[in-house]
Amino acid sequence: MEQAKHTYDELVNRNKELQIQLEEATDTIEAIRSGQVDALIVKGDDGHQLYTLKTADQTYRVFIEKMNEGAVTLNRFGVILYCNSRFATMMNLSLEKVIGLSFETFIPEISEDKFNELIKKGWYEDCKGEILLANKEFQLTPCLVSCTTLDLDEGTALSLILTDLTSQKEAEWELKVKNEQLLIAQNAAEKLNNELEDTVRERTNDLLISREHFKLLANNIPQMTWTNLPGGEVDFYNQQWYNYTGRRYGETAGWGWQQIVHPDDLSNTMDKYINALKTGEVFEVENRYKKWDDTYRWHLNRAIPLHDDKGEIIFWVGTATDIEDQKKEMDRKDEFIGIASHELKTPLTSLKGYLQLITSYKKEEVPPVVKQYIEKASVAINKLQRLVNDLLDVSKIQAGKLEYALSKVNLSELMASVIENARHIYPSYEFENQSTSELYTEGNAERLEQVLMNFINNAVKYSQSNKEIILKTSVNDNTVRVSVTDFGIGLSEEQLDKIFERFYRVEDKKFMTSGLGMGLYISTEIINNHHGKIGVESELGKGATFYFELQLID
Ligand code: ADP
Repeated sequence: MEQAKHTYDELVNRNKELQIQLEEATDTIEAIRSGQVDALIVKGDDGHQLYTLKTADQTYRVFIEKMNEGAVTLNRFGVILYCNSRFATMMNLSLEKVIGLSFETFIPEISEDKFNELIKKGWYEDCKGEILLANKEFQLTPCLVSCTTLDLDEGTALSLILTDLTSQKEAEWELKVKNEQLLIAQNAAEKLNNELEDTVRERTNDLLISREHFKLLANNIPQMTWTNLPGGEVDFYNQQWYNYTGRRYGETAGWGWQQIVHPDDLSNTMDKYINALKTGEVFEVENRYKKWDDTYRWHLNRAIPLHDDKGEIIFWVGTATDIEDQKKEMDRKDEFIGIASHELKTPLTSLKGYLQLITSYKKEEVPPVVKQYIEKASVAINKLQRLVNDLLDVSKIQAGKLEYALSKVNLSELMASVIENARHIYPSYEFENQSTSELYTEGNAERLEQVLMNFINNAVKYSQSNKEIILKTSVNDNTVRVSVTDFGIGLSEEQLDKIFERFYRVEDKKFMTSGLGMGLYISTEIINNHHGKIGVESELGKGATFYFELQLID
């Protein structure tokens, strides 16, 4: 017990002694750090050793203490004589614990060789090198170590300045990653660029080839051709254009072509051209172009727009076909029709007169069978007369001489009389009158009757199985629509566009009936002269409604 007490007292004393030593050491370090002392005694294997800082200078020490790098001074044996607080922080130790330790404590195995080499060299000359330091938790810190020798009173010491490279390395690493990414992106961009260049080259080539094709084609067709921009300016003509007009590019390019158009055709041509540019619809017009010898020839112009992927017009391609000879042929034909129908009309009229004379004989004087023949001959003559009249009308229209007087027409009465007439001619058909009364318009009653009869004749001709025909008037604002509806064979969309043309007949052998395709053409002329509108609504196999619209008057 006595023994134990003694030991305890001894331990307490020893502890006090050590406490004092620690306080002294702390004071000493603090004194060195703050520049109050220039020397210190370190207890080594060979007893106590005194180290004095030869260039002890308070300013430098304070500076070293505050700097961002770690600073360490080693003796020959690699023992740390001095370090600043930055180094202690880097190694995650308190200052007191660092001083007196061997610097090798902080060198991980991986950096050992490099460190030894560096230190060895450092004792002879200033040098630098990158190594890894390990703290007590074995966390590694990359550092740049600068070695330089310091002359102290009791010999030379080695001073190490350690720059923490962690953030620099991180930045370097990040930079490296970014560089790699940049390189990848650069390569990809370069590849893309090359591909793009190839595509452009290919496209340009294709374009050149197709331009050449176009030019070759354009210069080898008999028609004159041109291309124009969406705004209307012509930017290309083929060789035929120059041969025909005898002009140079600059004279007719852009809008210059207007000088070549016959002055009488210019306004119509311009209207159609501007309308096509505005709507993007096909441009089609007949006009006369001036030849190099100052004569004019008729041409049929057609132009279609070319669209890009987005549907925008890139340019128009147009052709002008010489139709002078066809026109002359047509004129000759019209002239012939005019003369022929006139010549036919004279004997037809006398034939009709003689027939009437025969019918005026008393019944008993003519055998019944002859009477029948006479009736049949009358029907045939009426039909022939209608045809001849139609032919005459067509030739008059062509000559611009279809003239008639206009007066107030009672449409309701006209409808009633037409229906009565139709019922008489076509007794097997059922005509339904859906017209309202008291409808007046300005026009020519005979010609309007002609139009209605034409509608009815067609309705009968083209609806052999369903024999119902509706005649109707409908009023909208100040306009009246007069229509004839049948439930016959009807018309396809394609046919609808053409049936109002001269001599057009639907070429379907199944439904071939007699007729020359003049009725609707004449009707159109008549309604146009009345400043009205003619039209049709129809579906193939479901019948048709032909109508005209006129302005009402009081
Ligand atoms: P056509 O003397 O041949 O009847 P039109 O000018 O009167 O001449 O008519 C032109 C063409 O329009 C006809 O050949 C016919 O094919 C078509 N058509 C006219 N009316 C009708 C209708 N009601 N139903 C079907 N097709 C019709």
